[in-house]
Amino acid sequence: MISFNVPPVVGNELKYIEQAIGNHKICGDGEFTKKCSAWMEEKTGTAKALLTTSCTHATEMAALLADIQPGDEVVMPSFTFVSTADAFVLRGAKVKFVDIRPDTMNIDETLIEDAITDKTKAIVPVHYAGVGCEMDTIMDIARKHHLLVIEDAAQGVMSSYKGKALGTIGDYGCYSFHETKNYSMGEGGALLIKDPDMIERAEIVREKGTNRSKFFRGQIDKYTWVDAGSSYLPSELNAAYLWAQLEQADMVNDNRLKSWNLYKELLTPIAEKEYITLPYIPEECTHNAHMFYIKTKNLEERSALISYLKENGVLAVFHYIPLHGAPAGQKYGEFIGEDKYTTRESERLVRLPMYYNLSEEDITYVAELISRFYAR
Ligand SMILES: *Cc1c(COP(=O)(O)O)cnc(C)c1O
Repeated sequence: MISFNVPPVVGNELKYIEQAIGNHKICGDGEFTKKCSAWMEEKTGTAKALLTTSCTHATEMAALLADIQPGDEVVMPSFTFVSTADAFVLRGAKVKFVDIRPDTMNIDETLIEDAITDKTKAIVPVHYAGVGCEMDTIMDIARKHHLLVIEDAAQGVMSSYKGKALGTIGDYGCYSFHETKNYSMGEGGALLIKDPDMIERAEIVREKGTNRSKFFRGQIDKYTWVDAGSSYLPSELNAAYLWAQLEQADMVNDNRLKSWNLYKELLTPIAEKEYITLPYIPEECTHNAHMFYIKTKNLEERSALISYLKENGVLAVFHYIPLHGAPAGQKYGEFIGEDKYTTRESERLVRLPMYYNLSEEDITYVAELISRFYAR
């Protein structure tokens, strides 16, 4: 059986976890957490990167820092994971969903302005498959309407748009280190903060509303409760696991890109016959091979292909069921404009097996099966 995902292991994970245990420091913000934060700050150029318990929690932190209040509105695509919306719904916000572009499956930047009202507080672009949204346009719209931009860059670690790391272009960026992502700590994430003035409050929100981070740095002599917050800092054991991977990020990235390019090469002939559509990478974007997906003609053909692959030992999956049609999406959100592509394109999409160290033989076998399926 060829799995859809295998969590990444690159070598030093256990050694670093043992070191964390030896340091007698397994709660948050020890040596390994600091190493991971410093890596992100250096690699992306963000003012501050705070390691969190998940990308969902990083987005919740961004919603708190953005002071989202009941009745406020946020604009995002409907083709995304639930957390993108949930983080704002928890603060009482209404979600305005807009359609996606069929080429990248990202939010259609030309439709955002139609969804903006005087209650809108933020735009939340999602960089699907680690391929950047049209950020110049999105930032222009945000500036014009005085809105915050909170990037869901869960899938975008090591990707960039016009040379800028995804997650560093808007006011806040949210990364995921879930086991299905390119770099993992089991469950985890990070919040990237652009404005240095927001760092102190972010540290407070992450530490249960206390100024404990300042206390640990010796800047104050006792710590106290100063704001509303929660517990968003991950254990050192998880950070140690992540550090083993970030340390080898280029190697992991090259390995994934090699797999991605091989899929592309092998599937191009079928795409040229117009049986399937392959992913599109805009010229402004460098991507991280987070995902290799293909698009079939329609839902029926997709179901048949997934079954065929499964019968032949390959697990391929689909996602997302658009949020606007889901029960919570109907309760907390509203689709603005016409759903021209969100539902239609989401029903065509199949994700092929993709993970660190996926073998060439396996990729070749998957591509062969797809060719055989369309030769029938
Ligand atoms: C994985 C993912 C998330 C959630 O990440 P967690 O770390 O599991 O909370 C959010 N948004 C998108 C687009 C994702 O792919």
